[in-house]
Amino acid sequence: MSSVPTIVTPQSLIRPEIQALHAYHVPPSVGFVKLDAMENPYFLPQSLRQELAQLTADAAINRYPDAGAYDLKLHIRSVTNLPSGMDLLLGNGSDEIIQVLALALAKPGAVLLSVEPSFVMYKMIAAFTGMRYVGVPLTQDFSLDLQATLDAIKREQPALVFLAYPNNPTGNLFDAEAVRRIIEATPGLVVVDEAYYAFASDSFIPHLARYDNLLVMRTFSKLGMAGLRLGFLAGSKAWLEQLEKLRLPYNVGVLPQLVASKLLQHHDVLLAQAESIKQERTRLMSVLSTIRGVKAFPSEANFILFRVAKATQIFEGLKQRGVLIKNLNGGHPALADCLRVTVGSPEEDAKFLAALQNSINQLA
Ligand SMILES: *Cc1c(COP(=O)(O)O)cnc(C)c1O
Repeated sequence: MSSVPTIVTPQSLIRPEIQALHAYHVPPSVGFVKLDAMENPYFLPQSLRQELAQLTADAAINRYPDAGAYDLKLHIRSVTNLPSGMDLLLGNGSDEIIQVLALALAKPGAVLLSVEPSFVMYKMIAAFTGMRYVGVPLTQDFSLDLQATLDAIKREQPALVFLAYPNNPTGNLFDAEAVRRIIEATPGLVVVDEAYYAFASDSFIPHLARYDNLLVMRTFSKLGMAGLRLGFLAGSKAWLEQLEKLRLPYNVGVLPQLVASKLLQHHDVLLAQAESIKQERTRLMSVLSTIRGVKAFPSEANFILFRVAKATQIFEGLKQRGVLIKNLNGGHPALADCLRVTVGSPEEDAKFLAALQNSINQLA
């Protein structure tokens, strides 16, 4: 008896929870003043760009990269001040590291817990890996709701907790004592995601040795290397040697390894750029606060979240004026009428502020 041919479709084969997802949307940005993705607006000095040109010209791109990224890890260590005994795992962006963590901990029924609103990839990657996602609401001013979070931890017994420190898209730095209480109460692994460390006043890297269940994740994307795709996870060898098994062997290419190593040898250049961005953040915040109808939230990152009436129309008004920011209205209910602007160069921010004022005036 011959089998009846069945029609194979994506709908019949792809897991329903994947079909229910929307792909992470990246809007076209060519020609815009681009203030939507927390990129560093500054170029590198000409001399350094010349050095990078030579370095890439001589690179052995016919060879696989160093799978252990030995040199690059040394350079990361030299700028990171890891407590002794702590190791590194590298990712093709820190997004990939979130995925490695979830893959490792996704026992049937295991919970990935975070707070809301926060970085959307935590929830997406929970779906990719079959973990059950639990999001604990932040308070009205986007602080941690410590009691609610501790209650959820007790109830859900999460295998994996992500806390973005500072948080995206809200920009604030959570209370460090509350984060410590969460680490102590969690029966699973807590990952403090320090994507915005270069713009923030605090870090959990110095506390790594204090907690067996703490890892700290960082990315170089927001510091000026978004195009290289490089993030790292720092923590004890006991954790990282297990997670290494899930890292695909050549996940950081030859060119990103070479270029990032060179840039980290000129870390002072990047830190000076981060310093300018922080100063510009202060200026942008003070101007935003003077615009009638705009409420800007405090930020320790390289972006500012603000609320304005008719946010989606304002967002469109900005776009018509050539400025692209991020519209968060219509997503999480706590972000109703909220927009997020990346801190750009003074010239970019001036264009943004003029376009914002004009868009508000037009709708008034
Ligand atoms: C941007 C961001 C990341 C991811 O950055 P990569 O470019 O993938 O390294 C991770 N966490 C938070 C909170 C972010 O904002």
